[in-house]
Parts: sequence; structure tokens; C-alpha cells
Amino acid sequence: MPKKTTDETPGPVILWFRRDLRLDDNPALHAAAGTGRPVLPLLILDPEEEIGGASRWWLHGSLEALSDNLARLGPPLVLRRGAPSDILPALVEEVGAEAVFWNRRYEPRAVERDKVLKSALTEKGVEVKSFAASLLAEPWEVETGSGGPYKVFTPFWRALSQFSFDAPLAAPEKLARVKDIATDRLKDWNLLPSKPDWTSGLRAIWEPGEEGARKRLVAFVDGAMTDYGDARDIPGTEGTSRLSPHLHWGDISPRRIWHVVRGSEGGAGRAGDAFLRELAWRDFACHLLYHWPEIVTENWKRQFDAFPWVKNDAAFEAWTAGRTGYPIVDAGMRQLWQTGWMHNRVRMIAASFLIKHLMVDWRRGAEWFEDTLVDADLAVNRASWQWVAGSGADAAPYFRIFNPVLQGEKFDADGDYVRAFVPELAKLDAKYIHKPWEAPVKLLADAGVELGETYPEPIVDHGTARNRALAAYRDMKGDS
Ligand code: FAD
Repeated sequence: MPKKTTDETPGPVILWFRRDLRLDDNPALHAAAGTGRPVLPLLILDPEEEIGGASRWWLHGSLEALSDNLARLGPPLVLRRGAPSDILPALVEEVGAEAVFWNRRYEPRAVERDKVLKSALTEKGVEVKSFAASLLAEPWEVETGSGGPYKVFTPFWRALSQFSFDAPLAAPEKLARVKDIATDRLKDWNLLPSKPDWTSGLRAIWEPGEEGARKRLVAFVDGAMTDYGDARDIPGTEGTSRLSPHLHWGDISPRRIWHVVRGSEGGAGRAGDAFLRELAWRDFACHLLYHWPEIVTENWKRQFDAFPWVKNDAAFEAWTAGRTGYPIVDAGMRQLWQTGWMHNRVRMIAASFLIKHLMVDWRRGAEWFEDTLVDADLAVNRASWQWVAGSGADAAPYFRIFNPVLQGEKFDADGDYVRAFVPELAKLDAKYIHKPWEAPVKLLADAGVELGETYPEPIVDHGTARNRALAAYRDMKGDS
């Protein structure tokens, strides 16, 4: 049993922050405050947990914001680096904590680790409580008629949309604090890149943290949401909420979003439905990951184990650098590099290009996204890559191969998106902006484009690549 600080003072509650970097609608924090005991807010940086470069930048910003907000309530945020299985028991001892509270995570490693930690702490007489904070519904709460998990999104959404979600919890107004606890300094964690500092594009558009999330939500609900159903597919406009990194890090809760949307003008109708349905895809991805943790690395459809992926390093590098010669793909990959985010429509096009035109294994693309996205999320990213590959649950069929030219012409008809991220094509006529190789020589010269010099020729021919991918798919299935 951990020692109490004094006979009169009750032992504190350690509140372990993880992917819930907020005070608003934070059930573990709310419960800790409700005990009336001193609260020790803790964040552990586990070196075993891989966090990509862009996400580390986000985490730094979110932690700064959380620290400032907590300081206003009383207790400072304590930062420690190491394995949670070492740090938590040691801290319990150090401060004589009687309880440890956290909000649940669903990644296979985190689930396993939390189970072990919970029983180790409980054995020592520490009260451990976990709460639901990151999803609309827990992965085991949404069940089919026969009591199992869902494999298909539409019935999952039908079931989820019947739930009634409790009102979000207000942030506590004050917390009693534990005195003089040593903490790491955030800047010593080196979450920000320095040599070189490549984050100017990220800083220009993002404000990590709770306040930034709230502003984005309000701006979206008052603005783009009305037209979300149509504009969400147009990458050249700000037609979506851009809440994904805030949701990933827990700067805001999905339940808060649900209630703000439903309570807004138009939010109870079609505009709100269309948006909340997308939000539910996030829950669905987590539902799949929780019930089938192997989807992180294994094909959901095991027949894809026989797919003849190609290890094409040069083509992979051209894809990462946004130099494939297909403007919509290149614009997306450069948006990702510059801003840490890519529009959903273009994520699908760029992923499809890597998997089908270049026949590179979807896992390699997923890893690149995890290193470069500010919203990199194991569940959503892996489920989405499998969805595009055709190997996933409820996936797009492999034989549906996006034509990057037609996709560009359909969703970026005036070429605004390409112009924004591929400046060397900015002066090209909209008619050719998605297929510069078909433009008359004079038009190219007038626009300052020299193919193969200022902008690459396509690294593969669409028709040839399509036939190659389809043949590989037929071979895999054993049809000849
Ligand atoms: P909005 O359209 O405003 O949607 C609101 C929220 O709903 C999003 O913030 C997100 O949390 C959720 N959402 C929207 N679309 C999807 C979707 N298709 N699947 C799951 N949830 C969705 N999203 C991530 O958050 N992290 C990832 O690592 C990630 N990787 C992806 C990889 C690929 C190959 C693809 C095709 C999609 C990926 N997505 C990922 C899903 C989607 O592209 C982003 O969630 C979306 O673009 C975020 O922008 P937004 O916040 O403006 O979305």
C-alpha cells in the first residue's frame, strides 16, 4: 500500500494524460477533480512509442497549451520520459498516490500495456480507473444483432447514430495540487525539429491545443458545414473541418463535436448528418482495430498475402517528393510535406497511385503518412490504406483503379489545388493542368513549363500501369 503524505491529507490522484490533451469533456480529469483530493497531472513520453516528425511537432504545441491551461487551475503538468510501467509505480510511491485515473486508448500495444499496469497497480492497493473519452462509443458497445462487431460501415453507422450521447462534461474550475514534484522540461524532449526547422508550413495553418480546436469547430459550424456534402470533395476549397489532428491528440472530444454540431443551425439536418457520418468513420476504424488488431500489419483479406508488391525505391521516392508527373498526386504529396495534412480526396488518389500504379506495398505508404501527418492515427491510417488497397474490411475493390487525370479534372476542375502546391504549373491552362504532357508545345512554353526539366514527365503511363495492376490482381486470385 503506498504511503499517505500525512495522516490528515488524503493521497493524491495521478491523472495520466495520453490522447486526451484537454480540460473540456475529459472524464478522467472530471472524476479526479470530483474526488476532492489533490490531483497530479502527468504525461509520459514513452521512447518505445514511435511518433512521426509532424506529430511530434503537434504534441509539443498541445502540451504547451495543456500546461498553460492546467496552471490556471492549480497543478502544473508533470512530464516524465520512460516506460509507463516504471514511471507510474515509482511516482505512486514518490507522492503517496492512492489512485491513478486515465482515459482509454485502443491501439493493441496500449491495450496490452494498460492491462498489465492496471493489475500491477491494483495489486499494490492503488485504485485504478479508466474512462471513455476518445470515441463516440466504445468499440465493444456497438454490436450487430447477433452480438458481434461490425465489419461494414453502413450498418455500423446506422447502429451508432441511434445512440444518445451524454452531454459533454465541463472543465473543472479548480484543482488541489501536490507540492514540488520534479518534472522534465518540455523543450528538453526535443519534439521540435531544429536542424533544419521544416515546420514553417505547419505553424502557418495550425494552432495545436484546446483553444485551436474550439476555434476550428466554431469556424466550421458557422461556415463550411452548410455545404459540406458537396464541398468536402473539393481539395482547392476549405470545405472540411480540419479537426483531424485535434481529434487525434484529444484537444477536443468527438462528443463535444457531436453536441455542438447537432445544436447548431442546420446541424440537426442533412449538413450535420453528412459531417457526423464522416466523424463516425473514425469510430469505425477504431472498432476494427480493437476487434482485429492484426490489421496494423496484416492484410484483412488474406488472399492479398500473395500480391506481388514491387520494391521500387526510385518510384517510391518520387511519390514522397511529389514528383510523379501526375499533378494531383504531386500536389497532395507536397501539401502533406508542407502542412502535415492532406485533403481526404487526395489521400485516396495518392494512396491508390502508390498501391496500384506503382504496385508498392500499402504498408510502406502507411508508414510514410505516419511520419509526415499531424493527424497520423494508427487505426484510421491503417484502415484507410487497407481500404484503398482493397485488402481491408468493407474496402474499395482492388480493380477500381483511380485515373489521376480524371480525378483531378473532376475534383479540381480549375486546377486551383494544383496551382497552390505545384507552383511550376501555376500558369498552365486549366484544360491541361492535370495532363501537362498533352499540352501544345507553345502553351507549355508560354506557361514556363519544360517537361522533364521544370516538372517531371509521368513516371508511369496510366494505361500500362493499370493493366499491370489488374493482371497482378487476377494472378493473385488465381484467375488467368
Ligand atoms: P472532415 O471531413 O472535416 O471530417 C471530420 C472528422 O471525421 C475528421 O477530422 C476525422 O477525424 C473523421 N474522418 C473524416 N473522414 C474520415 C475517414 N475517411 N476515415 C476515418 N475518419 C474520418 N485520418 C486521420 O485522422 N488520421 C490518419 O492517419 C488518416 N490517414 C488516412 C490515410 C488514407 C490513405 C486515407 C484515404 C485517409 C486517411 N485519413 C486519416 C482519413 C481522412 O482523410 C482524414 O480524417 C480527413 O482528411 C481529415 O480532415 P478533416 O478533419 O478536415 O475531415
